[in-house]
Formats: sequence, structure tokens, C-alpha cells
Amino acid sequence: MDKPVRIALIPGDGVGPEVMAEALPCLAWAEARGRHLEAVRFPFGADHCLRTGDTLPDSSYCDLRDQFDAILFGAVGDPRLPDGRHAEAILLRLRQGLELTVNFRPCAPFLAGSRTGLDLEVFRENTEGPYCLQGSTEPGRAVDLAIHTEPAVRRLLVAAFRRAETLCRPLTLAHKANVLKHGHGLWLRVFEDLRTEYPGVSARGMHADALLCALVQAPTTFAVIAADNYLGDLISDLCAAFIGGMGVAPSLSWAPHRPYRCSVLAEPVHGSAPDIAGKGLANPVGMMLSTALLFRHLDWEPEARDLEGAVSGALANGAKTRDLGGTLSTVAMGMAIRDRLPS
Ligand code: ATP
Repeated sequence: MDKPVRIALIPGDGVGPEVMAEALPCLAWAEARGRHLEAVRFPFGADHCLRTGDTLPDSSYCDLRDQFDAILFGAVGDPRLPDGRHAEAILLRLRQGLELTVNFRPCAPFLAGSRTGLDLEVFRENTEGPYCLQGSTEPGRAVDLAIHTEPAVRRLLVAAFRRAETLCRPLTLAHKANVLKHGHGLWLRVFEDLRTEYPGVSARGMHADALLCALVQAPTTFAVIAADNYLGDLISDLCAAFIGGMGVAPSLSWAPHRPYRCSVLAEPVHGSAPDIAGKGLANPVGMMLSTALLFRHLDWEPEARDLEGAVSGALANGAKTRDLGGTLSTVAMGMAIRDRLPS
């Protein structure tokens, strides 16, 4: 028998464990269809931190990095730890440490409802920019460094160019190189290089402010959007609004150059949503679609397609949680989706 795909489960905080509980039976379903996997749960999050003082100990980080193939992640963030340090020590450390440069956030057309024709994907750099957490607060002055390195920028843009080439659809780079001359100047230079390497791709750069305006006015004119960490975060949350909001948007992060065994992490776009945590109100769709993205990344295309089909079928049949205007609980929504999975 082939070696199992080892998947680390980190449900995390807030609604993370609630939505993760709805995705886990999908792993068991894939296993029942013959996929060989081993899932191991890790306790990292606010409760664990408050109980033990540990965020993500070095030994566990190395275990995740070297002994696992993939991570399925819920969300981190808890009002009892308001400075967010534990979230940084867990999620940002995994993104940066594992060099998960590419964060892929599709706006799936089957979720777009009345906005027919909307079908776009955001490629967000996931490890650098102003989110590198370097800076200082001094009296009367605060500094956040934004670091952009050519290898990471190139990896992100190559992934976006390849995707646009595969889809035969246009690529747009969001930038502010007119003001951020150094960092975004680097993005533009690498972008121009790649335009010559991928002559078949229709690629243009756009100032991010103009792009946001055009995105609201004519979202169907965009196909693949590439951006740095900060702009990609904002643009992809706006795109989530086109398909029903934070609860339904999936994401997958990966390291195209595979520096470690663990080179992929699936997580919903949303955070820990403390305002609705523990009330059965969270929509599990973003988490379940992230699981489908992971299946596709593992080359389990039939399972990815069936899970996406089950989500779209359930939604088309009127299954909705409160954020989508319905009344179903997290568990009932998860069941409505799983009931549509073929055996
Ligand atoms: P982060 O910065 O960690 O991504 P955030 O500040 O963007 O977090 P979220 O936790 O994503 O905030 O919550 C933003 C809003 O979206 C909240 O009103 C929350 O209730 C809602 N929300 C988030 N996740 C879900 C979900 N799964 N189902 C329904 N509503 C959600």
C-alpha cells in the first residue's frame, strides 16, 4: 500500500473548531473512497496557550514541518489574548517558516448567485510585505516595515502567470508603484520580466485604488488578480463579499519550491469570528471548500469536484446559514452538504 498523506489538523480558536468539525467527515469520506491518509489533531490556539503558556513550541513546529504533508487549519484569534501574539506565533510562523508564499483565493462562480459571470481568483503573496511584523512604536512615531524579496515575488507571480496561461484568461497585478517606489517597483520589474516569459498571457498592471473601484463596478471583467500580502488581503475580502461573504470563501497556501515536506495549508479566508463563536452560527462552507482545494492539490480531483458539487448542490437547494439569509446551524449546513457526497 502507498504511504498515507499525513494531514495535521489545527482547529484553533473561535469558530475554527466548529467549522473544522464539519470538514473532518469529508476526510473520512475520502478515505472510504480509497484515499490513504492519516489525520492528527493539534491543540494550538488560545485555550492551549492560556492553559500551558505554549503557542507553537519549536519541537511541534519541526514535527509539522518534517513529518506532515499538509495542514488543515481553522482560525486563530481570541479576545482573551487581545494583542494577537499567539495567532502570530502559530499561523504567521507556519506561513513564513514553511515559506507558503502563494495564497490562492478563488471566488467560485457557483457561489456567485445573481452575479452571473463572476469567476475570479486572487493570488496573494503570503509571507512578506507589511505583514512581516518588523517595526517599532516610538513616542509620536510608529514604523511598520514592508519587506519584499525577489524570490517570493517571483514565486507568487509565476504561480499567477501559470494559472492565467492554463485558464487562457487575463492577469491583473494590483500595485501602488507610483508611491511605493521600492517595494512595488520590485513587483513591477518582476512582472515585466515574466510578461516576456509568458507572451501568451494578457497581463496588465493596475494601481490598486483604481482596481478596487473597477472591481466593484465591473467584477466580471477580472479573471486572475495578483497582489502583495497587504493588497491581496483587502482585495480578496472584497471578492468574498461578491460570493456571499466571509463564511463561504476558501483559500489554499502552498510553497511552490517545496523546501520542506509540509508544503501546503488549507484554511478558510475568515478569521475566528469571536462575535458568533459557540452559537452554531458559523458557515462551514469556506472551510469545506478549502478542504476541496486541498484534495485538488493532492491530485484527488474526483473528491475535490464531488465536494464542490455537494456545496453548490446544497446551496442551490436552499440550504443556508444565517449569514446567507437562512436558518441552518453550522452542523445542519455541514450535514446538508455531506448528504450530497456520492458514496
Ligand atoms: P482575521 O483578521 O483573523 O482574518 P477578521 O477581523 O477579518 O479576522 P473575521 O473573524 O473573519 O474577522 O470576522 C469578520 C466578520 O465575518 C464577522 O462579523 C464574523 O461574524 C463574520 N464571519 C467570519 N467567519 C464567518 C463564518 N464562518 N460564518 C459566518 N460569518 C462569519
